[in-house]
Amino acid sequence: MLPVITLIGRPNVGKSTLFNRLTRTRDALVADLPGLTRDRQYGIGRIGPRPYVIVDTGGLGSVAEGIEALMERQVQRAIEEADHLLFLVDARDGCTPEDLDLAQRLRRVGKPLTLVVNKSDTTDPTLAVADFHRLGLGVPWAVSATQGLGVHALIDHVFEHL
Ligand code: GDP
Ligand code: MG
Repeated sequence: MLPVITLIGRPNVGKSTLFNRLTRTRDALVADLPGLTRDRQYGIGRIGPRPYVIVDTGGLGSVAEGIEALMERQVQRAIEEADHLLFLVDARDGCTPEDLDLAQRLRRVGKPLTLVVNKSDTTDPTLAVADFHRLGLGVPWAVSATQGLGVHALIDHVFEHL
């Protein structure tokens, strides 16, 4: 069985962009419209020491469904399937109330989790990472999904915590 690595995070943080980079496909829908992807997307991860299943949980249901229900279902599905959770946040936005809410839920899941500060190309990565320590989910990893910065190191780290 391949390990299952699941991308979690509020809409527009870059889950589908990271999914595409890890699978080297354009299958996931990347858009400025949050919540466009209708369901979970599965791919085979190709960046890293060995293959894995990568799951994009972005945009479950419609935009109108609301962020609460979206997060609820993301967390539920993550509990069921994942061997390791990648919790994505946005360096440009900084730590939002939605991030704090989701972090609280994810802490209760009790599965290996890495906090990933995406879009680190948009700001000073050191400052961006510092802001997210308050989520209480360990040392945040700075990456840029669009530029590929920090992505190999992130996956190596995940394989050390499966
Ligand atoms: P999702 O809703 O979490 O799946 O987010 P998407 O992958 O659809 O990305 C939302 C927007 O953020 C798109 O316009 C992406 O091009 C942009 N984006 C994603 N990753 C990065 C990144 O590392 N840096 C920058 N500057 N923009 C990014
Ligand atoms: Mg998406």
